[in-house]
This record gives sequence, C-alpha cells and structure tokens, in this order.
Amino acid sequence: MPRVPGVKGRLQNTPAPGPKRVLLAAPRGYCAGVDRAVVAVEKALERYGAPVYVRKQIVHNIHVVSMLEKSGAIFVDEVDEVPEGAHVVFSAHGVAPSVVQAAADRGLLAIDATCPLVTKVHREAVRFARDDYEILLIGHAGHEEVEGTAGEAPDHVTLVNGPADVERIQVRDPERVVWLSQTTLSVDETMETVRLLRERFPHLADPPSDDICYATQNRQVAIKKVAQQADLVIVVGSANSSNSVRLVEVAKEAGAKAAHRVDYADEIRQEWLDGVSSVGVTSGASVPEVLVQQVLDALAGAGYDDVEIVQTAEEDLRFSLPKELRRDENGRQDARALGGHER
Ligand code: SF4
Repeated sequence: MPRVPGVKGRLQNTPAPGPKRVLLAAPRGYCAGVDRAVVAVEKALERYGAPVYVRKQIVHNIHVVSMLEKSGAIFVDEVDEVPEGAHVVFSAHGVAPSVVQAAADRGLLAIDATCPLVTKVHREAVRFARDDYEILLIGHAGHEEVEGTAGEAPDHVTLVNGPADVERIQVRDPERVVWLSQTTLSVDETMETVRLLRERFPHLADPPSDDICYATQNRQVAIKKVAQQADLVIVVGSANSSNSVRLVEVAKEAGAKAAHRVDYADEIRQEWLDGVSSVGVTSGASVPEVLVQQVLDALAGAGYDDVEIVQTAEEDLRFSLPKELRRDENGRQDARALGGHER
C-alpha cells in the first residue's frame, strides 16, 4: 500500500474558545472524470499487464500516482519515452491532437482517459476556430489541460491568465471573439475575468455551456458555506491540483480565518489549531477519501471529534470507461463499464 501516514496522537488536544467541531464539506473528493481515469489505468493493468505507460500524472494527486506506480504504471512526460507498440494512457486533463498523432506515429496503443467534460471544451475550441473566432482561453499557463485545449486550435487561441491579464490582450477582430475556460478555475474569479474582457470587447461571445465543470463548482459552493463558519479550513489535495488550490483561495475569500492545503494528515501543524473551535475540511476532485479520513482521525486526536456534514449538492454523475476497456477479452461488459459506482 502507498504511504498514508499514521498520525493518531500526533496533534495535541489544546483548549479552544468554544466547542470543538469539524465541518465536513460535501461534495468533496473524487469527481466522475477522475474516477474514470484512475479506473482506466487499473483496468489497463489488469487487461494488458504491467507496465502500462501513462502520459503525465493521470490525475493531479501524488497519492494516486504513487499507488498506481506500485501497481505497475509508469508515468512519462511525453510519448517518445514510451517503447514502440506499448500501451499508453492519456491523462484526465486531455491532450493536444499533436500528442495523439505522435503516439500513433510510434505505433502506441493509446487509451484516452481525457475527462468527457474536458473533451467538451476541446470540441468547442474546434468549432469556434472553424467559424474563425478568436478564442480567449481563460486558464493557467503551463497547465496540461490548457495545453491540450489550445493545441486543438493553436492559431486561434490566446491564453488569458486571469483578471490582471486582460489589459494586455490584443485581438484581430473585436467582433469575432469568444471566451472558453479551463474546467477547474475559481468561478468568481473567472466571471470577473469575463466581465473585464467584455468591457474591452463588447461583442465577446459566451461558450454554449459552462466550461468550469460541475465538480469544481459544487466543491467551491460547499467550501464557501463551510468557510463562513470555520476558523480554519483544511483542503486535502496536491500542490499541482488546480481545483484543490482554488478551494484554499475560495475558502479564504468566503471568510475562513485561515486555509491550508495538505497532501497528508501529517502535514497539519499544531499551531494551525491555536484558538480554533471550528475546522472546515474538504478535498479536491482528485483526492481519494482515505486521505480525508486520515485528516479526520488526526483532528479527532486533537479533540475535534464532533463531525458535522455540510451538504450543498448531491452528485451521481458517472462516465463510461474509455471504449477499449468496457469489455473484457471475451467481449463481456466489464462490471465497471460505467466507472465509479463501486468506489
Ligand atoms: S474536475 Fe471536472 S473536468 Fe476535471 S476530471 Fe473532474 S469532472 Fe472532469
């Protein structure tokens, strides 16, 4: 098993100004796209045997990556690191068409675990580029998802890094511009970026539907409600997980006195708990629940054993596995063909 640090008793039970409690956000943790991508790697390992190569981290969580590495997955940065003819899984964040082509040129057997909600944004980029729109893609430079989406229409995409970036944007034809976005941004900050873009380009067109996905939005709504009542918010998630990092920002903006991100429970510092009665807890969309449970155990050891769930939405979305993995070698539908429901 990968490292899940034992933490019981590490934090001290110090006095607090009021009754100690935990406010546990729901929804939190795995979204349908992450679940599908992780199951895809597991199924590929079962079906084809180790090693199975994965381009980039399958999802942005160090625990998940380490767990899959122990099962025989090999993570690479680019497809030219994969031996010819081997299986390669594309991560949930998606890939540019040039990557698909490079994999085909190497004779790789590719399994595309791109989240269908990222694929939706890719299709929008292709369609708007075909209609000769200039696409203002709101997102973070260097993020794999942004590289994949921009790669669908490199001549039509201009990256907008956030509100502060709007002033420098130049377009060919201000009457033919549309905005799209990365799926894991802060909803409020993105709407502010759009407002500023529209001030500069009044004819700015909107995407046909939200690009910031349901999971990102739901986790932000839940942590906002938690943060209004919490002295401290702990977000479980990795540093390169965009939606986890956004949850820390959203919690602070919503009124949490402090908010910190941890990968593991043993990163919680004793001093964070000084004078704290209510601790909010949530996790990013790529975080397995076992890591949240470890945080709850650590907090219980410090006297925060009264856990109240703050539920703002129910989620039951599931995505089918990539088509190569829906049936076994005998053609029978796999029990997890729909992904997610057993996890
Ligand atoms: S966070 Fe949203 S876009 Fe990303 S994998 Fe999950 S559901 Fe898909």
